[in-house]
Amino acid sequence: MNVKTNTLQVVHTIEQLRRLLDAMNRSSSTVGFVPTMGYLHEGHLELVKQAKMQNDLVVMSIFVNPTQFGPGEDFESYPRDLNRDSKLAEEAGVDIIFAPSVVEMYPNDGGIRILPGPQANKLCGASRPGHFDGVLQVVLKLFNIVAPDRSYFGMKDAQQLALIETFVRDFNIPTTIVRVPIVRENDGLAKSSRNVNLTSKERQEAPVIYQALQKGIDWLLESVSPEEVERRIAEFITSTSSGAIDYVQVLDYPSLGPVTEETNEMIIACAIKFSTTRLIDNIIMSTKGGYNVSNDDEQ
Ligand code: AMP
Repeated sequence: MNVKTNTLQVVHTIEQLRRLLDAMNRSSSTVGFVPTMGYLHEGHLELVKQAKMQNDLVVMSIFVNPTQFGPGEDFESYPRDLNRDSKLAEEAGVDIIFAPSVVEMYPNDGGIRILPGPQANKLCGASRPGHFDGVLQVVLKLFNIVAPDRSYFGMKDAQQLALIETFVRDFNIPTTIVRVPIVRENDGLAKSSRNVNLTSKERQEAPVIYQALQKGIDWLLESVSPEEVERRIAEFITSTSSGAIDYVQVLDYPSLGPVTEETNEMIIACAIKFSTTRLIDNIIMSTKGGYNVSNDDEQ
């Protein structure tokens, strides 16, 4: 183990972060990086746990990135609480929080953009035009700022993860992407910072999403077609809750193309809107060697 601090340090500028990493003997330490938008929950802390096990230093970024939000989306109402986050991060053993301002991250705009490939046109990319352009933009900036050995991403955002893996591979970005399984509430709802924006009635209804995805796995195992599975999941959710369907799709993972005979892993992914709150969830199912279910608990 290399030099470590015992207490969390919170920095707001790129310059401060670089100086701190140098002072912490960055060159002979491995750095694990956990990018987040804050309002931490146990899903984020699971990423930290894995990062701590595998690296000397853990850097977490907390930044609600405006370039990945479209007009009319919840950029303004996205929950923020750096004091609360700092306590949770410190308990979890994060060494540095990098919490930049929007101006620190985007002091000028030279107009250069990253054009994501076809994986970005499906699912959330279809509902949120430009979303993944903004995600890849901020992730590349953060990778360049932190220069992490390993970077931790949750399977909760499976499309984001698939795109980032492609991005890192295609552009030789020198960090290893580590996939972390979805952390759920006891009733199955995937943990999300946005869950606090659900009304109590919606919170009671929201576990229907995971129940529907699990039914989807059963139907796929019974060789029901992907299209019919999508239809049945949507029907189950709308008939048992006030959730409105943004999308329900069964696709090949991680290509996000259609399921074919060559498919090794299928994803059932959905986005469901409860009044103002849009929730996403998914389950991955392995089809290698026959329909051998590997749901998120086992990934
Ligand atoms: P966010 O702050 O929502 O942008 O999420 C930051 C990171 O935490 C992303 O890699 C997410 O996929 C991951 N994450 C969020 N929720 C969960 C969860 N319930 N389980 C596992 N990872 C999660």
